Amino acid sequence: MPETIFSKIVRKEIPAKIVYEDELSLAFHDINGQAPVHVLVIPKRQIDSLEHASPDDAALLGHLQIVAQQVARQLGIHESGYRVVMNCGADGGQSVGHIHYHVLGGRPLAWPPG
Ligand code: AMP
Repeated sequence: MPETIFSKIVRKEIPAKIVYEDELSLAFHDINGQAPVHVLVIPKRQIDSLEHASPDDAALLGHLQIVAQQVARQLGIHESGYRVVMNCGADGGQSVGHIHYHVLGGRPLAWPPG
């Protein structure tokens, strides 16, 4: 799959409000936030979607979840609670073909999603 805007954010070619970065991952505020806190956690290496991930990616995906926890703590939503969600494919609502977790919080979140 062709690279997406997220690869440009990884390379700092376009701006993003970055809240966390390490050698494997990047976390930044969603440009169209759906909650008081809405951060995306992405691997620097592009994997198109969960459907494109392999068992070799298991440690990286686990790392992203721990980064999501770190971001939630950093932004002060760890005690009130938060949601970590990954959309996959068209019916899953995925619009950017670079795998990412959404970290949402700062208000009560309805369930089930639409
Ligand atoms: P998804 O629909 O699950 O693929 O999520 C993609 C998310 O990326 C959406 O919530 C968008 O608002 C967000 N997004 C798209 N472009 C940017 C950008 N340049 N900076 C930050 N977030 C973005």
